[in-house]
Amino acid sequence: MELEAYSYVGPEAIRRSVAAHPVGASIRSAAELDRWLQSHPDAVREGATYVVDLTGCLRLAPRRSEHVACAGGEEVLAAGELHFRKTAQGWDVSEVSNQSTGYCPDTSCWAAVAQAFSRAGIGGPAGFTHEIVFRRCPRCGELNLVKEQWFVCAFCDADLPAQWNVATRRRVVVTGAP
Ligand SMILES: [Zn+2]
Repeated sequence: MELEAYSYVGPEAIRRSVAAHPVGASIRSAAELDRWLQSHPDAVREGATYVVDLTGCLRLAPRRSEHVACAGGEEVLAAGELHFRKTAQGWDVSEVSNQSTGYCPDTSCWAAVAQAFSRAGIGGPAGFTHEIVFRRCPRCGELNLVKEQWFVCAFCDADLPAQWNVATRRRVVVTGAP
């Protein structure tokens, strides 16, 4: 399937400061999620940072980790925050967002999240429970988080475009194979 790959757009100082941090754990199955949550009990309470890597795999890191560290500095197909909940069948995802100021992914990156969950056999919501609309101001260049469909720059009052425009992104083909 074709998805969009997003490059890191955050501060270079942050990228450098976390360059030696561990890459997020690959979660390819419900059993791997179970093991990761057992070794990261705080994530049950406070959630986790995630990215979907270029192979389409979900990667998890403790909450407040930088997405660029979770991704090992690579491009991502999606990035945001997750919360988990225990069900009779095991762990599933109760809340998921595209909240990542490091990558500012378009809301359409849900397709990559859904595929990563589906591949790993992890249940979850049918879309982002918390959706961030990132836009770059075409006049002043500042990054905006659009609230309540108000497509106006918070810094200079210029109109913001209807389409995602934070940076360049490229289309990549991700196979369904785990
Ligand atoms: Zn502006």
